Amino acid sequence: MVARQSELVANYEAILAKVVKASGKHNVNLVAVSKFKPASDILALYNHGVRHFGENYVQELVAKSEELPKDIKWHFIGTLQTDKCKVLAKIQNMHAIETIDSLKKCKKLETIRQEVNGDVINVYLQVNTSGESQKSGFQLDNLDALYESIEFLLTCKYLKFEGLMTIGSLSESISDENMDFKRLVDLKNQLDAKYNLDLKTSMGMSNDFEEAIKQGSTSVRVGSSIFGLRPVKLT
Ligand SMILES: *Cc1c(COP(=O)(O)O)cnc(C)c1O
Repeated sequence: MVARQSELVANYEAILAKVVKASGKHNVNLVAVSKFKPASDILALYNHGVRHFGENYVQELVAKSEELPKDIKWHFIGTLQTDKCKVLAKIQNMHAIETIDSLKKCKKLETIRQEVNGDVINVYLQVNTSGESQKSGFQLDNLDALYESIEFLLTCKYLKFEGLMTIGSLSESISDENMDFKRLVDLKNQLDAKYNLDLKTSMGMSNDFEEAIKQGSTSVRVGSSIFGLRPVKLT
């Protein structure tokens, strides 16, 4: 246990140092992605002062949120189904939901969060910047759907429209300038101007977070470089 704790802390600190170096004067948030990893791993980093953790699966997040300290700031970063919005909105310390891709889900989350009178949840709208069919998110060729969700979010009391999120394609993550990240930042700038906002961007994972920060990311989601490889999920 003690050995595992020092390993996790060392990994986290190494990534944090790279985040700080890549970000210069900007403030970039590091979210530790703990999917498939035991609560004891999270607690080890929690005891080191880490508060932002990301999870992909609703049931796993519910179980961990019940077991772990209530001042953890949970980020949901997995595929979001409409019928799971209810469960997520009931998690007291649900800090951010990063994978919202429809007006229907925005409405559902706002309604349930109001019913439980919870703290504001920060929301990111996911954008499919790579156009890959297996990826979720608003499509760049149908911005009206995105605008419609934004205009609803701007009226919400229990949701705060925090920014845009994307998962870049694998091929872009190994190229020099990541065009998926560029498309997200271009869209952010366009929306900032249109709605007078200063949106954040959640982009970058273990293998491309430094590049993402260089291209303007304000929140990176790093899993395997901190916690080690995950078991392969059979789908
Ligand atoms: C799993 C996951 C991550 C973390 O990926 P690593 O490559 O392990 O750092 C980040 N974002 C999303 C959306 C994920 O599903």
